[in-house]
Amino acid sequence: MSQARKIVILPGDGIGPEIIAEGRRVLETVNQQYDLGLSLQTCLFGGAAYDASGSPLPEDTLSACREADAILLGAIGGPQYDTAPRDLRPERGLLGLRSELKLFSNLRPALLYPELADASSLKPELVAGLDLMIVRELTGGIYFGKPRGIEERNGERVGFNTLVYSESEIRRIAVSAFEIARQRGSRLCSVDKMNVLEVSELWREVVIEVGKDYPDVELTHMFVDNAAMQLVRAPKQFDVIVTSNMFGDILSDAAAMLTGSIGMLPSASLDEAGKGMYEPIHGSAPDIAGQGVANPLATILSVSMMLRYTLKETAAADAIDSAVAQVLAQGYRCKDIASGEANEQLINTTQMGDAIIAALQAGADS
Ligand code: NAD
Repeated sequence: MSQARKIVILPGDGIGPEIIAEGRRVLETVNQQYDLGLSLQTCLFGGAAYDASGSPLPEDTLSACREADAILLGAIGGPQYDTAPRDLRPERGLLGLRSELKLFSNLRPALLYPELADASSLKPELVAGLDLMIVRELTGGIYFGKPRGIEERNGERVGFNTLVYSESEIRRIAVSAFEIARQRGSRLCSVDKMNVLEVSELWREVVIEVGKDYPDVELTHMFVDNAAMQLVRAPKQFDVIVTSNMFGDILSDAAAMLTGSIGMLPSASLDEAGKGMYEPIHGSAPDIAGQGVANPLATILSVSMMLRYTLKETAAADAIDSAVAQVLAQGYRCKDIASGEANEQLINTTQMGDAIIAALQAGADS
């Protein structure tokens, strides 16, 4: 049996507790099936923590997260917190946690199961079977560069930000992306704007240098404007894309929307040691909270990413991915991914968790 590893679970707000309940049941199932030796601890976070303790990121939650091997987050936020002091809003807790844990590498897969190809805004043949991963630098670049501000110059207001990346920042995100590429299709496309920006010139040089340590990974480069075009023209050409904070912010949302199903997409944010926080890309969906209809698959797939990328439990991760594919092939759908076809069976949040667990158990028995 592996050493005991700690997983901290943060249900959060809105549909967070509902989807996390299913993610947790799936994690408990594979923990037992594969003898993973994981210990699970639930902590308050976001609006729920603010209501209980006056802070969205209480000290005991932060220290549990620091000690954890990995963190599973539901979602945070809701309209009731819009009037809370800015520093105490749930989103502040999330930003605080990401920066406290130095989670600089953001992994956003865009995967479209063949059965859900009709949900995309692109033609099914362009997107069916899409499986790409965007690795976005999360703690540097123009969102954090200084100086920044708005000031009066020559009688008018001027706004300014600074795009800056050090060699070490580029190197560590490149290493993270090459490692991910190795675990997938071994193809990495680095996206920059080298024809215009000096920062991108350095970015490309450093990525090429890092690539020398990964001769088994095929490295290509693309300008960001072309990458945006290629993502909607022929997205299946990509395996892994690595890019800076702002380019990644934009491209990863475009890639996510190629799949057309927000309730299906997981994400991860990793530190230099590979420790990570795993969460669905969607928010707390206050419009459907408490109804038991939220799709838990993005959370369940976040559990699979956690097993694959932090805990290195590939067999358990593969089993969850196959269970999800199988359940979709059987026609089970939550409301957000139902298209009304004859073979579909509409199910709720808990029933989707049940279906995944049944598929995992059937897989173990066969
Ligand atoms: P949202 O992602 O919560 O919801 C957008 C739409 O998608 C809604 O119609 C919702 O019902 C639907 N949806 C989302 N997840 C779903 C699921 N699992 N199953 C079925 N349908 C689903 O985005 P929003 O409405 O803009 O934001 C709501 C709150 O969430 C806000 O307070 C926002 O700040 C917060 N938020 C949190 C995170 C996070 O926790 N990481 C991310 C984004 C937004």
